[in-house]
Amino acid sequence: MDFAISDKMKTVLEMIREFMTKEVYPLEPHFLFKKFRDMWPEIQKRREMVKKMELWAPQLPKDIGGMGLSLMEHALVSEELGRSPVGHVMFGCQAPDAGNIEILHKYASPEQKEKYLMPNVRGEIRSCFSMSEPELAGSNPIELNTTAVKDGDNWVINGHKWFTSSADGAKFAIVMAITNPDANPYQRASMIIVPTDTPGFNLIRNISVMGHAGDDYASHGEIMYQNCRVPLSNLLGPEGQGFIIAQERLGPGRIHHCMRWIGICQRSFEMLCKRAAERKVGGGKFLAEKQIIHEWIAESRAEIHAARLMILHAAWKIETEGLYSAREEVSLIKFFVAPIMQKVIDRAIQVHGGLGVSDDTILSYYYRGERASRIYDGPDEVHKVVVAKRILRNYPAPK
Ligand SMILES: Cc1cc2nc3c(=O)[nH]c(=O)nc-3n(C[C@H](O)[C@H](O)[C@H](O)COP(=O)(O)OP(=O)(O)OC[C@H]3O[C@@H](n4cnc5c(N)ncnc54)[C@H](O)[C@@H]3O)c2cc1C
Repeated sequence: MDFAISDKMKTVLEMIREFMTKEVYPLEPHFLFKKFRDMWPEIQKRREMVKKMELWAPQLPKDIGGMGLSLMEHALVSEELGRSPVGHVMFGCQAPDAGNIEILHKYASPEQKEKYLMPNVRGEIRSCFSMSEPELAGSNPIELNTTAVKDGDNWVINGHKWFTSSADGAKFAIVMAITNPDANPYQRASMIIVPTDTPGFNLIRNISVMGHAGDDYASHGEIMYQNCRVPLSNLLGPEGQGFIIAQERLGPGRIHHCMRWIGICQRSFEMLCKRAAERKVGGGKFLAEKQIIHEWIAESRAEIHAARLMILHAAWKIETEGLYSAREEVSLIKFFVAPIMQKVIDRAIQVHGGLGVSDDTILSYYYRGERASRIYDGPDEVHKVVVAKRILRNYPAPK
């Protein structure tokens, strides 16, 4: 097995590291304390620099303006960008746009590509993905109350969605709605593109999460679709295939998320070590001299390394054998990596003492902001059940 990184990727990662240090980390105080909306001029300036360096949209094919990296290569990029909460947005590969672009690229009509895909790829507009509903279990997304009914040349959409991330300021939503209620449960829903200025698209609020409602890109919207009419041509992909397309969207997305979490782990871990090395506690001794800290450092290092290798292996399997064959590995990383990230952030906070829970470092943001990682894209428990059931198929009960 070859773990070597190509010379091309070494250069790309080095360029990204330098850019993060010079241009991205200095923006974090703004991200933490001010409105996201007011940050756009600074983001746009840096996005232009990223484009000039030919590092824009690393995960997208070259024919639509991306770098054309493989999934494995983009995983390494996502790790670097994940070190800052504003890393991905600076390079045009942020969720939920990245996943939406992926399905638009595969399923959009030529007209949809021109109107929605390409401006989204270029970073001129943002999008959101509107599937989860407050009244039904999001962990079982085949159950939806939202309907889209044909009326003349239009779909008429009615429903209540929430946790539509980044809806505030988005130009369009990709909405999952029941279009074929009598079909089998996996073929009832379709994806429909809804411009957010359509009458009947009502953003009710940005949901306050862990004390912060956020705004613009950094928010999670609750939306009422009330007799929201869009042309029939806004159907994305085949009718009744929404659930299947959504599954496609989630596979590579989980690799991106998990490697982003590794970036968070690495940064928190480095902060932990630095603080331990520099902080004197009782008797003039440094924290780094305490055995309990040695244990945290060693365990964190092993856990991050194991998680990282598991993700890269899952990415490799998707690339070499396809998403279907890699579905167990994808489930494994989803529930394995997030709790490790939580543990590493928590240890880093503990080593920082009061400073750790203050907002003077990025750690407290990570602590509250990343708790959701064990819930979105399938809660841990769902992935564990999926993996265990598949394994147990090999162990039939005695007759
Ligand atoms: C920060 C954040 C961003 C999000 N962004 C989006 C977005 O952009 N678009 C969108 O459509 N949705 C989004 N979501 C919604 C997300 O997909 C759902 O929250 C998720 O699918 C879980 O659904 P639920 O909240 O309804 O929890 P439920 O389905 O009610 O589950 C609650 C809990 O029950 C347990 N559980 C569930 N099923 C099982 C099982 N089979 N076995 C054992 N235990 C189980 C789990 O512990 C789970 O956490 C986001 C959520 C968060 C928190």
